[in-house]
Amino acid sequence: MLILATKNPHKVAEIRLILAGLPGEVRSLADLGVELPLPEEADTYAGNARSKAVAVATHCRTWALADDSGLEVDALGGGPGVRSHRFSGPEAGDRDNISLLLSRLAGVPPSGRTARFRAAAVLCSPRGEVWVAEGRWEGFIATGPRGTGGFGYDPVFIPRVPHWQGTVAEMEPATKAVFSHRGQAVRALLPVLRALVSPAFPVHP
Ligand code: IMP
Repeated sequence: MLILATKNPHKVAEIRLILAGLPGEVRSLADLGVELPLPEEADTYAGNARSKAVAVATHCRTWALADDSGLEVDALGGGPGVRSHRFSGPEAGDRDNISLLLSRLAGVPPSGRTARFRAAAVLCSPRGEVWVAEGRWEGFIATGPRGTGGFGYDPVFIPRVPHWQGTVAEMEPATKAVFSHRGQAVRALLPVLRALVSPAFPVHP
């Protein structure tokens, strides 16, 4: 069994879509009723994803996959970055974060609104071995929110995708899964995940 080490139901849905077709059981913490603090105190995506994957793999004694991600805006010196979730305060919601982002970028022309989503995905074995992969999705920040899909900054992120001009919140989930930072990072771990469910793999879940 592979446990997704996240409490974010949107990330669970996205990772399930990215892993669709992988044999074996993929469960979330919520599916299993596991309540566990997930540490996010590192100053890198990989560091945070590693802490979360190791915490869950150790606690549940199984394989765990974690993601840590954020939005980096060039006009904000790469911020909010690893602090994207708490950009406008510890209890902030997505709308508050988007409002703060748009107000910080008020008056910045399209050429100065370049940004990217970044993600690190970490797979941890029951014995504590880890595999790390990263993804990045370039784009720019819109002047106002558009679309109802996705989560976080999706309504204001216009990704660089051929023949696409909308925000991520206007995109089909399956399209996001193909191009996104999370899709890139998680797919890079697929060779290990496939080996995991193969009878030839030396360590069975
Ligand atoms: P964390 O990985 O739990 O620290 O949260 C990452 C934060 O970055 C999310 O709460 C969002 O604000 C933002 N973020 C990461 N990935 C995405 C995405 O795919 N779409 C929109 N926002 C994202």
